[in-house]
Amino acid sequence: MRRPLVAGNWKMHGTRASVAELIKGLRQLALPSGVEVAVFPPCLYINQVVAGLEGKSIAVGAQNCAVEPMQGALTGEIAPSQLADAACSLVLVGHSERRQILGERDDILSRKFAAAQSCGLVPVLCVGETLEQRQAGKTLEVVAGQLGSVIEELGVGAFARAVVAYEPVWAIGTGLTATPQQAQDVHAAIRAQLAAENAEVARGVRILYGGSVKAANAAELFGMPDIDGGLIGGASLNADEFGAICRAA
Ligand code: PGA
Repeated sequence: MRRPLVAGNWKMHGTRASVAELIKGLRQLALPSGVEVAVFPPCLYINQVVAGLEGKSIAVGAQNCAVEPMQGALTGEIAPSQLADAACSLVLVGHSERRQILGERDDILSRKFAAAQSCGLVPVLCVGETLEQRQAGKTLEVVAGQLGSVIEELGVGAFARAVVAYEPVWAIGTGLTATPQQAQDVHAAIRAQLAAENAEVARGVRILYGGSVKAANAAELFGMPDIDGGLIGGASLNADEFGAICRAA
């Protein structure tokens, strides 16, 4: 049995004051024991969030990391080893906003994935197609390419200690959610691609859905056989809404 994971991606949101408020709200949540919960604040606030959530079983992750595992001369970046030192346990790799706005390519993302793992962080590899690609019938091909490039670089065994997040770009922050069946079809394809190389890894890996998940649609998405939780953007900035999504998993 895969333990569901609900992860809140705060993106580039927050101030010290609003983060303090959000921590307060998260501390008050009654969270289901069978679900793993994590939040991904902007790096600047990771220390604040780790300290604020002490004793609460919510993991803290980062939204990005450097391609090199250890600290060194790489201006503006944060090393996975530094994230681990700050008590992060997870890191997003290849969120579509970084792929699209910052041009992060698959080869860079494989390096980040490997660097994160080498420091004991669990990478959450984000994959997903644009609206144009979906309309052209290329969804499975695009997702298989994004996943396949990491498998090719690092081997399927790397996914024994990783999470995959399927996030259709057209569903992120738009209020348009993939239907449970649309999401399930892609999740099943991701699992099958991993299974073709290693059935045990495929059975164990958690595949999250992301893209306009909210309390009102979470349960039906999480009810699909290959959807093991969610990566939640906008709705994770409201503690009560995020708590309701966690309880739906
Ligand atoms: P959203 O974002 O829930 O606001 O659509 C999801 C994500 O980008 O991780």
